[in-house]
Amino acid sequence: MDNCIFCKIIKGEIPSNKIYDDENTFAFLDISPVSRGHTLVIPKNHCSDIFDMVEDDAKAVITATKKIANAAMNGLGAQGINLLNSNRKAAGQEVFHYHMHVIPRYQDDRVKIFPVQKYKETDFKATADKIKNAF
Ligand code: AMP
Ligand code: ZN
Repeated sequence: MDNCIFCKIIKGEIPSNKIYDDENTFAFLDISPVSRGHTLVIPKNHCSDIFDMVEDDAKAVITATKKIANAAMNGLGAQGINLLNSNRKAAGQEVFHYHMHVIPRYQDDRVKIFPVQKYKETDFKATADKIKNAF
């Protein structure tokens, strides 16, 4: 994709702080980190989000993600990791080349990733049914 900033990073046309590179994936430090070591893992084949991503790339990204998560734990002394991937504008996606955020977490770092809500009693099962019936 000609105009994609992450494709340009893969090609080296835009500089990045590379963490990891293999046949199908590339990983680099997020320029505006949520925490120290916040890394983005991307497939080398351009896709916008999880909906147009081919399954082999999804597998490659999760395999690389696991390696990077381990390296962040060992190399940075992180005590936990959040994985986060935003798909489409409504989910907060800003760069439309699929990316998995690997966010190292440190005890008492006060990072808040998932503010929670409560289901109304009747909604709980109905919501599960709607998803299950859409497979
Ligand atoms: P998202 O909101 O999930 O689409 O996240 C996009 C992420 O890309 C943000 O966390 C940005 O800080 C990050 N980002 C954007 N441009 C760059 C860049 N040139 N190098 C590294 N990270 C970037
Ligand atoms: Zn791209």
